[in-house]
Amino acid sequence: MLNQGQSLKHLNTFALPVYATQVISVNSVSALIATWNEARIIDQAILLLGEGSNVLFIEDFSGILLLNRIKGISYTEDNSAWYLHVGAGENWHYLVCYTLQHCINGLENLALIPGCVGAAPIQNIGAYGVELQNVCQYIDLLDLNNGTSQRLMVEDCKFGYRDSIFKHSYKESFVIIAVGIKLIKAWIPTLSHSDLNQLDPSTITAKEIFNKVCAIRRRKIPDPTITGNAGSFFKNPIVSRKKVMEILKKYPKAPYYIQPNHCIKLAAGWLIENCALKGYRVGGAAVHQQQAAVLVNINNAVSQDILNLARHVYKQVATKFAIYLEPEVNFIAANGKINPSECVK
Ligand SMILES: Cc1cc2nc3c(=O)[nH]c(=O)nc-3n(C[C@H](O)[C@H](O)[C@H](O)COP(=O)(O)OP(=O)(O)OC[C@H]3O[C@@H](n4cnc5c(N)ncnc54)[C@H](O)[C@@H]3O)c2cc1C
Repeated sequence: MLNQGQSLKHLNTFALPVYATQVISVNSVSALIATWNEARIIDQAILLLGEGSNVLFIEDFSGILLLNRIKGISYTEDNSAWYLHVGAGENWHYLVCYTLQHCINGLENLALIPGCVGAAPIQNIGAYGVELQNVCQYIDLLDLNNGTSQRLMVEDCKFGYRDSIFKHSYKESFVIIAVGIKLIKAWIPTLSHSDLNQLDPSTITAKEIFNKVCAIRRRKIPDPTITGNAGSFFKNPIVSRKKVMEILKKYPKAPYYIQPNHCIKLAAGWLIENCALKGYRVGGAAVHQQQAAVLVNINNAVSQDILNLARHVYKQVATKFAIYLEPEVNFIAANGKINPSECVK
């Protein structure tokens, strides 16, 4: 069923007043392929979308927006682990709740992250010390051009901080149709995050961690159903030790996180806050008052407001710290995805 010139206001969590030529929701591989073939015949661009919680439409999309709603959760187990096979259109938080209800631990730190399971590998979602790559076993991909599918094992996905092979090497014709997740039975709680490290690892349960994470997130992160946003707009920059020493000399309390490769991650929110940008407004867009890494639609913002605000933030941080923030959010223009870093410079 095709809808002409459809509003995307409820299909992007920024709640921006943008449109696509058509929006089509599909719940099977055959429907994905049929829609793709139809689009080729009428020469229309196609863009895959999950729940629109990690996108900035910088203008109307001139083409078909394809909502991947392939559902299904199944699992098997052996002595050491549970193995879940999850349809890309399942809601991520629903999956976290489903596993806990089935006494399967391991996803609790990733509670309340908005979006679909199929989008989770794109930026290797992460929160509270756990990333998708820690639990992912494989990704099933469909090439819409020829209808063939392939399975990429976790070690081939090139997962990194908010990064994966899917951001770089796969074009519009590739769709994630399912995600395989392996959760080991010898569960060890992940309490490394500063908000969790006072919990007792010998007594804590996965359900308690889930509750704690949900409570913190509800307190700290603006609810996109009330205030439009896409979570952290910028990635936490990874910088050299020398750069961190420079910053610590001037700001001894600056938060930093040592990475396995000896590089150091700084907090984008802290850098933005230190440019006195909390609450800073451009049109209907603003830097969130509590979480400076989050840009919000506070009053009927349009795409240009968010874009201009992002450019201002980028410039201020670059001028003050000589650190060049990279957007975490995917930017969509009239013909499809564009390079967000080029846009905010
Ligand atoms: C309030 C809030 C809090 C957030 N907190 C976090 C957090 O803690 N950690 C974190 O990592 N992220 C966070 N995010 C970002 C977001 O939740 C994740 O990036 C999520 O995985 C996006 O899912 P989605 O279905 O909304 O993807 P969309 O925004 O719909 O799509 C994102 C990108 O993936 C592509 N895509 C989507 N589905 C497919 C598919 N099946 N196949 C191929 N490409 C596809 C789209 O084309 C687009 O480029 C937050 C966002 C919000 C609004």
